[in-house]
Amino acid sequence: SSFGHFGFDAKLLSVIRKQEYTQPTPIQAQGIPCGLSGRDVIGIAKTGSGKTAAFIWPLLVHIMDQPNLKKGDGPIGLIVAPTRELCQQIHAECRRFGKAYGINTACCFGGGNMYEQQKALAEGCEIVAATPGRIIDHVKKGNTNLLRVTYLVFDEADRMFEMGFEYQVRSIANQVRPSRQTLLFSATFRKRIERLARAILTDPVRIVQ
Ligand code: AMP
Repeated sequence: SSFGHFGFDAKLLSVIRKQEYTQPTPIQAQGIPCGLSGRDVIGIAKTGSGKTAAFIWPLLVHIMDQPNLKKGDGPIGLIVAPTRELCQQIHAECRRFGKAYGINTACCFGGGNMYEQQKALAEGCEIVAATPGRIIDHVKKGNTNLLRVTYLVFDEADRMFEMGFEYQVRSIANQVRPSRQTLLFSATFRKRIERLARAILTDPVRIVQ
C-alpha cells in the first residue's frame, strides 16, 4: 500500500490497512518521515488533517526502538492536548494502533476521576495523553514521573494558549529532559506559538498542512 514506504513493520501496517485509509494525508506524508528521523516538528494542521496518526505512528516506532522496555517506569511518550475530548480521541488512536505491540496508554484529563487515572498510571503505560494541568497534578502527587519521556507532543497548542495553559505547557517542557524529541501542532502559527516553538524545539522541521 502507499503506507509501505514509511518503513513500518508488518504489525503496524496490518492495523493501518484495517482502517481502510487509502493513502497518507499531506501532514502524514511530510510529518511521518520527520517524526521517524528523530527531528523536532512544527505541524500547522487542523483537526481532520490526520495529524494524530502523524505523531502516534512514529511514537510507536520510537517506543519499540527502546532497549530493555520495562513496564511501570513512567511514560516514554507524553501527548499534551487542551481538552478532555481531544485526549480521549488521542487515547483511542494510541490504543487502536498500539495494541498490536502491547503498548499501554493512560488518559488523564482535568475533571476526570483522579483515582481512576492514578490507577491507570500505576498499572504502567508507555504513553500518556493528558491535559496540561492534570498531568502536572499527577507528577506533583507522585502518581507518575516524566523522567523517561523522550517523545513529547503538544497538540492544538494555539487552543492551549487560548485556554490559559501557556504556563503549564512551558512547565511541562521544562520538566522533560532536553535530549528529547518534541512535536508541536497548532492550527495557527502566530507570534505566541512562534515564541513557544523557539523556546522548546530544537532546529525543527516546519510542515504546513
Ligand atoms: P485527526 O486530524 O488526527 O483528528 O484525524 C481525523 C480523522 O481522519 C480520524 O478519524 C482519523 O481516523 C482519520 N484518518 C487519519 N489518517 C487518515 C488517512 N490517511 N486517510 C483517511 N482517514 C484518515
